[in-house]
Amino acid sequence: MPLTPSEIQDRFRASILGFAVGDALGFPLRGVPASSLSRLPALAEDFAPRPRGRFAKGQFTDDTQLLLAAAESVAQERRIEGRSVAAHFAWLWQEGVVLHPPPRLSETAERLLRGAPWMSAGAPMGAKDPAVLSRSVVAGLWHHARPARLPHDAAVLAVITHKDPTCAAASAAMAKAVSLGLSGEQLAPADFCQRLSAAASESDLGLAEELRYLPRVLGWEVERALAQLRKVGVPASELHETDGLPAHVVPVLLTGLYAALKVPHDFREALTLVLRCGGEADVAAACSGAVLGSQLGSDAIPARLRRNVLYADHLVRTSDRLFHALNGAPAEVAAQVGVRRRG
Ligand SMILES: [Mg+2]
Repeated sequence: MPLTPSEIQDRFRASILGFAVGDALGFPLRGVPASSLSRLPALAEDFAPRPRGRFAKGQFTDDTQLLLAAAESVAQERRIEGRSVAAHFAWLWQEGVVLHPPPRLSETAERLLRGAPWMSAGAPMGAKDPAVLSRSVVAGLWHHARPARLPHDAAVLAVITHKDPTCAAASAAMAKAVSLGLSGEQLAPADFCQRLSAAASESDLGLAEELRYLPRVLGWEVERALAQLRKVGVPASELHETDGLPAHVVPVLLTGLYAALKVPHDFREALTLVLRCGGEADVAAACSGAVLGSQLGSDAIPARLRRNVLYADHLVRTSDRLFHALNGAPAEVAAQVGVRRRG
């Protein structure tokens, strides 16, 4: 059954909050060996303080910051416009507020600020970072009712920092996953993954095929499924260097989707499953959070997490701005997305 406008507005909020919550739960766990994570209880019960205490509890990272910057741009322009999104990213980077900016974001921002066109400033072919996934949530929300343009615009968002077609395809699949949550349709995993695969196929047939096969591992034992997914598309040399999920867009996307399909009605349990993977598990948990948020709405995100993620009000306001921009209400002035340091 189609959702009402107020339900859709809530799904906008829940997708963005869900992403930020997963990101903020995973941030303090970065660098903890996967073997230790399996012994820690209750990884998604509450936000842990960052070890050594530099950041406030509930702080999210650069991934959520770039999602918000992309949302500000789209709300302002009322369309996904590569030049504007790139300018928002470069401005945020130049302000020095991006939390631990990844080297490829810094390089892109420097090229943009020197005048490179937005479509040629990104990292070259071969760079397949999971950093492109967060902003695809914006494409999924924006195009939830107009699916024809979704793969193209998700690719536009990816190409600003990463020119590799696998990044465009992963971005399109992630956007599609969020948009389907707002459709109100109850899709079996095979149908859900088939639609994601179709969205990805415009840029990368290999990833499209992996998405079509994803439902197959749902019947496996969890440990075996996760051990398989962390290897998909990753060169052996990169795999050996990593403890936990490698910093590669394919396993991060597949693991995030897997958890949302495996535990479709329990936000906390789905995110715990991902967070235990270690490595880039924060981005994967954020993707699970966004997909479950899009499917279940805000109430499915435990209240403690939904309210205590840092800048929760700002996350909701940004979601609302995007929702109202899509529905023709006047855009408000954008606010800066900051980092709160302790002490
Ligand atoms: Mg991050």
